Amino acid sequence: MKPVRTRFAPSPTGFLHIGGARTALFSWAYARRHGGQFILRIEDTDVARSTPEAVQAILDGMTWLELTHDEGPFYQMQRMDRYKEVIQHMLAAGTAYHCYTTREELDALRAEQEAKKEKPRYDGRWRPEAGKTLPPPPANQAPVIRFKNPKEGVVAWNDAVKGRIEIANAELDDLIIARADGTPTYNFCVCVDDWDMGISHVIRGDDHVNNTPRQINILQALGAEVPTYAHLSMILGDDGAKLSKRHGAVSVMQYDDEGFLPEAVINYLARLGWSHGDDEVFSRKQFIEWFDLDHITASAAQFNTDKLLWLNQHYMKQLPATELAARVKPRLAARGIHTDAGPSLEKAVALYVDRSNTLNTLTEALTACYQPANPTSELLAQHLTDEIRPALADFSARISTVDWTQPAIAALIKEIVGKHALKMPKLAMPLRVLLLGQTQTPSVDAVIELLGRQRVLAALQKIA
Ligand code: GLU
Repeated sequence: MKPVRTRFAPSPTGFLHIGGARTALFSWAYARRHGGQFILRIEDTDVARSTPEAVQAILDGMTWLELTHDEGPFYQMQRMDRYKEVIQHMLAAGTAYHCYTTREELDALRAEQEAKKEKPRYDGRWRPEAGKTLPPPPANQAPVIRFKNPKEGVVAWNDAVKGRIEIANAELDDLIIARADGTPTYNFCVCVDDWDMGISHVIRGDDHVNNTPRQINILQALGAEVPTYAHLSMILGDDGAKLSKRHGAVSVMQYDDEGFLPEAVINYLARLGWSHGDDEVFSRKQFIEWFDLDHITASAAQFNTDKLLWLNQHYMKQLPATELAARVKPRLAARGIHTDAGPSLEKAVALYVDRSNTLNTLTEALTACYQPANPTSELLAQHLTDEIRPALADFSARISTVDWTQPAIAALIKEIVGKHALKMPKLAMPLRVLLLGQTQTPSVDAVIELLGRQRVLAALQKIA
């Protein structure tokens, strides 16, 4: 069996977006599943649109998702000599030829074909054939180089996702593989790379399906083994339209900014177009054990933000408190909140994680624990009523000596509520407002325990 070698081959013209990340994940997982190699290749031949920033953004996204490559990154712009060398071999072997058709001639040909309602295509006028006499090459005109595509028969492959696909060679004209200035063209470079890099499985977006028959023909002309192709269907947004910037976070790193965990994003992406029974929640390790090409769906996958949020909360809850605290700490610091002098951040995250589905909403909720409470006069007026003041004063006096454990604090609250014949919220609400300046908090005994005796006593002074 040929070793499994997959590749991710992004064009560095923008961020690593969700679709690209899913392609990378599937390619990576397939290599890992089979103990193979995963290769990163940067397809930067479109010099007008490729930027070093985009290369960096792709590398950052891959690093964040921990999709580590075994070889590369290879840059196509650094492989120009190799492409030119292969073109020379093809010219010598007769699988490629010089074509001197001018732009004007091509325009005229196109107009003619359109008038006849024919598909515009190169007519092979410079294609060498047995018994055909070619015109003498015009002087002072650099030719393009075309691939001599087979004329007869079909080109077919068994797509691991889409099933058998067959195209008549008569549908394909002779592709330009090098421009007049000698630069090789996109489809050709992909073939040379997949060949040189020994790629066994090409897993990529189905926007490349139309390139595949041409690439197979070129690979065959090179005497290369044709890889298995798996074309992934596109991803639709929550609203069923093609996923785009309108849907908010499209760059993988934007998910980081918004407080998603890479673990959650990986689990989420794994299920975008692939399934293992009804399993929704699984680790990266489990995914590698299960991943196969047979269970990739041919239909489009639909993005579901609520499901991603749900998974994110699941993974946040699974993290040990120390780890969750470590991930939240820099986010608090970025808001100017330093936690070292305040309540235990580990305890705080454990208390608040049930109420938050991103690191950002968790960070937001935690800010109140590290700032002096500043309740609005409306909230104070609403909850700090004359009816409740005696109970609060009683509570205040007792809290200075109570055992500082959550059960002891809970028992004290219960006792005071009973003694003053109040309903629990009557006491809990003003305490929340005084301690955190808000009415929505985790259970008040836990909040009190978290904040510590000094903070609580200081906040209760306000009732005096
Ligand atoms: N560079 C292509 C892209 O970013 C991918 C080509 C391929 O996977 O064959 O869409």
